[in-house]
Amino acid sequence: MIIARVIVDIASSLVDKIFDYILPNNDFCVGQRVLVPFGKISKEGYIIEITDHSEVDTNKLKSVINALEPFPVILKEQLELAKFLKSEFHIGLADAIRLFLPTEMRGSKVKELVKVECFIQDENSAKLYLQSVRKNATSVIGIINYLLNVGSALYSELGKKFNNNSLRKLIQDKIITTKEIILRRKPYIEVSNLPKKDILLTPTQENVVNKILAEKRVFLLHGVTGSGKTEVYMHAMQKILESGRTGIMLVPEISLTPQVLMNFRSRFGERVAILHSGLSKGERFDEWQRILFGEAQIVVGARSAIFAPLQNIGLIVIDEEHDSSYNSDSNPRYNTIEVATFRAKISNASLVLGSATPSLVSYHNAMTGKYQLLEMKERINKRELPPLKIIDMGNEVRNGNTSVFSSALKEAIEKTINEHNQAMLFINRRGYSSFLMCKKCGFVAKCQDCDVSLVWHKLENALKCHYCGNRYKVFTQCPVCGNENLSSGSVGTEKVVLELKSLFPNVAVGRMDNDTTKTKDSHLKILSDFRSGKTQILVGTQMIAKGHDFPSVTLVGIIDADVSLYQSSYTACEQTFQLITQVAGRAGRADKTGEIYLQTYVPRHYVYKLASYYDYPAFYKKEINLRQTTMYPPFTKIFRILITSEDENLAKDVTKVYYERVKQLQQEYNSEFVYLGVMKSPIGRIQNKFRLQVLMRIKLDNEKQITNQLFNIADNVKQNGVTIFVEINPQNLS
Ligand code: ADP
Ligand code: ZN
Repeated sequence: MIIARVIVDIASSLVDKIFDYILPNNDFCVGQRVLVPFGKISKEGYIIEITDHSEVDTNKLKSVINALEPFPVILKEQLELAKFLKSEFHIGLADAIRLFLPTEMRGSKVKELVKVECFIQDENSAKLYLQSVRKNATSVIGIINYLLNVGSALYSELGKKFNNNSLRKLIQDKIITTKEIILRRKPYIEVSNLPKKDILLTPTQENVVNKILAEKRVFLLHGVTGSGKTEVYMHAMQKILESGRTGIMLVPEISLTPQVLMNFRSRFGERVAILHSGLSKGERFDEWQRILFGEAQIVVGARSAIFAPLQNIGLIVIDEEHDSSYNSDSNPRYNTIEVATFRAKISNASLVLGSATPSLVSYHNAMTGKYQLLEMKERINKRELPPLKIIDMGNEVRNGNTSVFSSALKEAIEKTINEHNQAMLFINRRGYSSFLMCKKCGFVAKCQDCDVSLVWHKLENALKCHYCGNRYKVFTQCPVCGNENLSSGSVGTEKVVLELKSLFPNVAVGRMDNDTTKTKDSHLKILSDFRSGKTQILVGTQMIAKGHDFPSVTLVGIIDADVSLYQSSYTACEQTFQLITQVAGRAGRADKTGEIYLQTYVPRHYVYKLASYYDYPAFYKKEINLRQTTMYPPFTKIFRILITSEDENLAKDVTKVYYERVKQLQQEYNSEFVYLGVMKSPIGRIQNKFRLQVLMRIKLDNEKQITNQLFNIADNVKQNGVTIFVEINPQNLS
């Protein structure tokens, strides 16, 4: 008897087990997607093992119904990855497998793109036909000549180029035959034809590439902004391809760096597959197939591309490795660098983490020898990093300036405009202003489903909740006391744009934030308008901070640097330093000099000082000492057990039980616990779910055992109606 061990596709359920089924014949293989009976219904499942025995009485076993594809959709390596995700991040096997497949594929929601291809049935009769038609039948003549020339073309293309009626007539007359073909949608394929810059590596770059290729291990590439890291990645990938292996290149979320995508596309053409959330469902499905079938050998994508079904990986690169999007803080929660480290290890590949401002953890790993540090300290054109001026906004207010721009920044914008250069203005908050408050009774507009205040979006004339997306009417009178004297909170992107427009009415301004980039390719449009000079100033959130290379940008303004500094996370200083360095790195990249203006109410803060000297090592030293004294990561692990439910009492009960169980654990591992507490989450309710948490910091000596115990407790105390998330080193503690 042949038995298949099957993971049944029921996500986030109380069941995370492997079930045995009988295989009706020999035509099945490991990794195949099958339909199986499950209870009274049938479900999709994945064969993870084929064996000849079962622990269960085989008389009680049911049979696999049928295979859903004739080929495996999951690689053996991915099955190992699934086990890793379960043991490290408490992700159920079925949930893990969902990460490996395009969602569209499950339940067969996506169809392959079928097109009709036309070609000449018989060359001689086509030529005879040509002689028989009238001279003015230009589209008929055009179509035949075109096809005689190129061989074949798509029906839709011919119809557009010439004329649909003529085409149909030719098909009727059997001059042209058609057949259906399956087309693979290839995002951004148009850029494969861009002229390739032939770039000769600098000695520094060459040295780095050679080191990466010489050894299979983890490298941290610390290279200042504009030092040519992308070129290093591409050369290393090229060599990996030449050796017959494949590679994954990760970029931050929402493809904020379309440039990297474009660079890879133009260098490697169809050998690149692209995976990120901005693709259409069809595109994603087709790219995934191209990877699975080995048609593409390089995968470029956001964090989930680390799960791509790529075989024989020789190199994985994580660009902007410090970026918070690599730390998935919603389900499934995982740390991309750890996943990549594991995947590189089982594929015997190298992993390169690249950044101008490495995360403290990664730099610490480099200092302690776990990673090999590679450095590129100079910009390609040897230009100095642009000078950064810190502006005391308190002073501006004292001088009667209530604008969002200090007088110095305003002058600098004016100068930039007059000199026909470009400026980027950065503000890490979208909307017009952070809240609407009554000056008389103090009423603040809040979301009904979340314990947060609403953000005023003036252009859409709405108050929006940034946690659940609820929209509310804007009021001009306080709904409680009727007072008309309302005040609004800190600035957002909209307000910056509106002020710019009133100060410089003739200047074209672009805005890039979550509100303006909702539709597919909209972020590409905003960026290409800026690149082409159609817009002269670009205002945006952290979306504009990363990776972009705009040669004409000479001015960067950071409107309110304190937003990032005052977020409630132990990584606030680190993130602020990174953000400033990244944003600042957008200026003066080509042959023009740049300058940065940083506006703040705490001009003497050490983060701003060190960022203004671009002194990463000094910042690292100061910050790592702080972490060590206060016992924060990387010297401890933070666990947050987040417990949510629509039923407040149920959430409280489960939290209490969990906390009691952790207290027992604490008795066993007393010296390991630096901190243990139980409380409401900072945002006590989101989307009408109550949120409580057990928070702890654990030393690293028995960290693995304690992690397992915390996972076990979660499995033991979970109940219907309550969700328990075990978060490890979360950066977002809302
Ligand atoms: P980073 O990713 O380190 O910020 P990039 O890879 O974007 O830097 O490189 C900055 C600029 O320098 C780009 O325009 C790139 O094309 C160019 N560049 C990189 N390497 C070289 C080289 N060896 N010779 C000439 N130009 C280069
Ligand atoms: Zn809400």
